[in-house]
Amino acid sequence: MTTIYEVDHLHQPRGWLSPGYLEVGADGVILSVTGARPQGRAVERLRGFGVPGLSNLHSHAFQRALAGRTEFVTAARAEDNLWTWRKEMYRLVDRLPPEDYEAVAALVYLEMLQFGMTAACEFHYVHHQTGGRRHANPAEMSDRLIAAAARTGLGLTLLPVLYAHGGIGKPVEETQKRFVHPVDNYLKLIDALRGRRAGNPGLRVGLALHSLRAVTPDEAHAALAGMAAMDPGARLHIHVSETTHEVEEVRAGLGARPVQWLLDNVGLDDRWCLVHATHLDASEIAGAAASGAVAGLCPLTEATMGDGFFALPEYHGAGGAWGIGTDSHYSTSTAEELRILECGKRLDLRRRNVIARSADGVEVHSGRVLFDTALAGGEQASGQGGGALVAGRRADLVMLDPDAQPLLGHGPSTALDAWILSGTQNPVRDVMVAGRWVIRDRRHAAEEAIRDAYRAAAARLFG
Ligand SMILES: [Zn+2]
Repeated sequence: MTTIYEVDHLHQPRGWLSPGYLEVGADGVILSVTGARPQGRAVERLRGFGVPGLSNLHSHAFQRALAGRTEFVTAARAEDNLWTWRKEMYRLVDRLPPEDYEAVAALVYLEMLQFGMTAACEFHYVHHQTGGRRHANPAEMSDRLIAAAARTGLGLTLLPVLYAHGGIGKPVEETQKRFVHPVDNYLKLIDALRGRRAGNPGLRVGLALHSLRAVTPDEAHAALAGMAAMDPGARLHIHVSETTHEVEEVRAGLGARPVQWLLDNVGLDDRWCLVHATHLDASEIAGAAASGAVAGLCPLTEATMGDGFFALPEYHGAGGAWGIGTDSHYSTSTAEELRILECGKRLDLRRRNVIARSADGVEVHSGRVLFDTALAGGEQASGQGGGALVAGRRADLVMLDPDAQPLLGHGPSTALDAWILSGTQNPVRDVMVAGRWVIRDRRHAAEEAIRDAYRAAAARLFG
């Protein structure tokens, strides 16, 4: 049985169909898209703007519990930066049991859906019990994330993280014992998680190296070889060049800046997602952009950490792919992340419309360029099978309400500018993942239960 939706304005890779007719199969895949009403078939009308669901390319779900809890200084912490924030994050890791991990993840996955994201790449490193003892089920914490995603309906690209050292040539700290695997055990975990995909079509499993600080070259090569033997197309993620401190540590330890080292020693291609990539020199920008890898930008997290500005015009201008992640989840809003990316750069460069470039006099809209680039980059980094409302893709459809205040009076030519770059009211009204509505009229069936479970977890963790 297939369903045909008549969407007032349907986002297409080039432009819009107004109206557009979207036929979705029982398997959750788009069968056809047309601008002509199919004869002799019932259609369900959807008011407003239909856009593809976005894949969030970088998430540490548990860090949602810290949002709003580290915005202060003390005499002992007068200088606050990523590394002092990390101490607060580690205090949370030290007391985070599996049930609370799941409760926090369910809330943040619900929030992603509410803002029009239909999948997330979960960069998952809290594997073991406090002190490093293995769970009876070695995949316990991973299974909690899979359960949270299944409960909300979000597609999940699970990226178990290989973490082995506390820095180049440094042993792990006590807290980090929860993160650590020998490579063999790590590959066994990936193999076990790949087995969870049966009956869970929204689940993908990829590989993540925490960083070049936490994994030696030999460990990186062994893990990549093991993953390639299981799945040569698997997505490969790594934290890279978030701070100048990290760049200096890798240059001192490995003899090259991090992205340059990866280009020279591992080889980057379109399976790779370079998370942050904040501090790149000109040669790294050219090399990474040409490699086809996606830069995994996390604009609001990078702003809250004071990391620095990504070289957006240079990287985008070199044809580099990029997408957005919400990382520590100060926000899970698509619009807010893209807005701070563009507007931060406007402040930095003191000019307007930084991302949009018109070579031939055609009007190019910043909101459209930001959304479409993040859409393609997110799909590339997640491998979820969505990313466009065209035949053969997964039916991940997000309906924007034309009555939401930021969209009042807008037509398709400016609707994405209005959503991404203006207003604060969230226009996301309905969200479909793989052909199934998970949010309708702003309601998710499990939202009260998910909020109640989160509130109880927060009381235990911070009470
Ligand atoms: Zn991260």
